[in-house]
Amino acid sequence: MLFLDPRLDLPAIGAATAGLRRQVREFIAEETGNGGFAPICNSWTEGLDPAFSQRLGARGWIGYHWPVAYGGRGGSAFDTLTINEELLAAGAPVGAHWIAARQSAPLLMRFGSEAQRREFLPRIAAGTTYFAIGMSEPDVGSDLASVRSRASPRDGRWVLEGRKVWTSGAHIAHFAIVLCRTEPLDPKARHAGLSQFIVDLHAPGVTIRPIRMLDGSHHFNEVVFDGVELSPERLVGAAGDGWKQVTSELAYERSGPERFLSTMPIVERCLRLVLDAAPAAGDIAAGRLLARLITLRNMSLAIWGALETGGSPIIEAAMVKDLGTNFERDSLEIVREAMSADERLAGDATLATLLAGAWPLAPTYNLRGGTNEVLRNMIAKHLQAR
Ligand SMILES: Cc1cc2nc3c(=O)[nH]c(=O)nc-3n(C[C@H](O)[C@H](O)[C@H](O)COP(=O)(O)OP(=O)(O)OC[C@H]3O[C@@H](n4cnc5c(N)ncnc54)[C@H](O)[C@@H]3O)c2cc1C
Repeated sequence: MLFLDPRLDLPAIGAATAGLRRQVREFIAEETGNGGFAPICNSWTEGLDPAFSQRLGARGWIGYHWPVAYGGRGGSAFDTLTINEELLAAGAPVGAHWIAARQSAPLLMRFGSEAQRREFLPRIAAGTTYFAIGMSEPDVGSDLASVRSRASPRDGRWVLEGRKVWTSGAHIAHFAIVLCRTEPLDPKARHAGLSQFIVDLHAPGVTIRPIRMLDGSHHFNEVVFDGVELSPERLVGAAGDGWKQVTSELAYERSGPERFLSTMPIVERCLRLVLDAAPAAGDIAAGRLLARLITLRNMSLAIWGALETGGSPIIEAAMVKDLGTNFERDSLEIVREAMSADERLAGDATLATLLAGAWPLAPTYNLRGGTNEVLRNMIAKHLQAR
């Protein structure tokens, strides 16, 4: 893949990860060679393939940097970044386990009980148990403190009522981490009284209905909770601490390389066609793509470096997500324009198929995981407060 192509001078992550990168690359070549998967853009949301997730899990490539006791390999965060970069760039179907590995597991690692960690993390690492994000509700997306779903204590258990929307992958997930109120809304302390629960999506009282995408595909859902009973062991962290926890979860959600690599199969294909041929008009497009890609990757490496040393680069992650998702949207437009000006690109059926698949989903890039406008508010407030 592109990341170690010597002609491109992209920084390698270090000698320690080179062997692992080679192994992942060999595995991808095997998989694409034997029909294991066909590359797509947005493979971390659209590529839902439990069998593929299990094949990765069997190799230890989900949660590689987690402690061995929780199913990981005790590697570094850069090992996991290396694996993820290669899989995303190849358009591999990592969507089934992506949310669980990216944010549910780190959330449980940080705030969950030891029993929760022992119960869920090894199954996530094995690629057999998937999680959904239960944050957004009708009329409640950016302003999460307004959630109306509510868990009430009854006979030593909690009873959950409410409705979530845009719940990615709920139709294949086993559990959702649901943000809800456990105390009535206090207008003077809007962020108080929220809690998070692990909810079994197959429990009585849970109804999951598809919300179709523009292209008819089934990615996200409406999830209704009608008197769903939860044991006290399903509470994550302490009751009332939900806001602190959910903001930490959002940092995991926003800091990954998928926020600039969703269209990488297209970018990669375009660059390959240009690099392997004599100079022509499309070289300008390739230069535009590459300049931004290299910058974003360097920024992403800095964020992972901060995470590796125990930092919490929330604002930096918001910046990369804003710049990265704009790059993803622009990359489609840049390649489309180049295709009409350069016959090396125009005649390529793979590029045309990838572009047709990615185009209808482009409006979602700046929305999912928090909109760019809201992220910019966060960044501006942070800079102002300095
Ligand atoms: C592909 C995709 C997958 C998703 N998956 C999930 C999921 O799995 N789980 C989940 O819980 N949610 C999910 N979401 C929902 C997503 O998090 C929300 O769409 C997002 O947070 C925005 O919320 P909203 O749609 O309610 O828009 P709103 O909050 O109503 O915003 C509407 C518009 O107003 C702007 N706006 C809002 N507030 C401000 C402000 N303070 N300042 C400036 N502008 C503002 C926004 O930027 C936006 O342009 C997903 C969304 C998409 C597109």
